[in-house]
Amino acid sequence: MTQRFSFSLHAKDGAARAGLISTPRGEIRTPAFMPVGTAATVKAMMPESVAATGADILLGNTYHLMLRPGAERIDRLGGLHKFMNWDKPILTDSGGFQVMSLADLRKLTEEGVAFRSHVDGSKHMLTPERSMEIQRLLGSDIVMAFDECPALPAEESVVAESMRLSMRWAQRSRDAFGDRPGHALFGIMQGGVTRALREESAVALKAIGFEGYAVGGLAVGEGQEAMFGVLDYAPGMLPEDRPRYLMGVGKPDDIVGAVKRGIDMMDCVLPSRSGRTGQAWTRRGQVNIKNARHADDPRPLDEQCTCPACRNYSRAYLHHVFRSGEIISSMLLTWHNLHYYQDLMQGLRDAISAGEFNAFEADFHAQRAAGDIEPL
Ligand SMILES: [Zn+2]
Repeated sequence: MTQRFSFSLHAKDGAARAGLISTPRGEIRTPAFMPVGTAATVKAMMPESVAATGADILLGNTYHLMLRPGAERIDRLGGLHKFMNWDKPILTDSGGFQVMSLADLRKLTEEGVAFRSHVDGSKHMLTPERSMEIQRLLGSDIVMAFDECPALPAEESVVAESMRLSMRWAQRSRDAFGDRPGHALFGIMQGGVTRALREESAVALKAIGFEGYAVGGLAVGEGQEAMFGVLDYAPGMLPEDRPRYLMGVGKPDDIVGAVKRGIDMMDCVLPSRSGRTGQAWTRRGQVNIKNARHADDPRPLDEQCTCPACRNYSRAYLHHVFRSGEIISSMLLTWHNLHYYQDLMQGLRDAISAGEFNAFEADFHAQRAAGDIEPL
């Protein structure tokens, strides 16, 4: 196995790309969807089950892990891979986004963000240097530069100031990351929905130089149309030969639209979180398993799906265990949702490789428009 981090493109269809990221911990087929393992677990899933859905990589959250159980503790226990029993690649976010959305009493300065933990009120400081240190202690394979991101909509001057701060932090992240063969540091493009700011950000990041690039600051309340508007040009501003990661996205139709526009990696809590609230994602759109129409339905959630929830259980059973508050409800629906997302990614990769992206996209939308199977 390779001892270096590398990315190779295998096929292009329009702007859509299929490729392979190689790391010492394994390969990541792109376009890739990364399940979110916030607190060193993808909720309701054993790690081997996450791998069985087809995931090549998962995401861990720096903010959560630094507060509980603590990065130094995870390091003492052998690193995040060993701690959570996941030996494939892990990407960690920088903590920048979550500290601004979750922490109490935040104070943002040029140095970084001082805050109090939402868990126990303890005082902390996150800076580019500390974020790099935490992600190194965790043993992350793909490390994200420390950045700041305003919620949209926001004044253009606010977005510009924030983006320039993030670019200064990107340089500090690069300097603090050091020389770590086999590990990658990704820079994060900011600039909201303003093309000139996105260009300025891309130029700044490319001058620093990263192993991959994220399009940040989207999926923060701007809506799909505005997001696709940015993705129509932003990926093309980044180096062709490096992976491009769209953070925090999304719904299945967001993913298809993002891949169409040249995105290689995505992550979202949606499939796992939905699985715990009785929502299933299928080829035919969203199914609410709580609905009384499923109570007597012996058919699987999706007869074409090969996940354990669809192979071995009926809609009636899934309805019953959800209504009864049984733990297996979260386990089965999360498994199905993650399996569906990975099936979707495999379909996208195959379609791009075959030069049939447009046909795949048309079929994807046609099946969703047809809706769920008729009630019995
Ligand atoms: Zn299924």
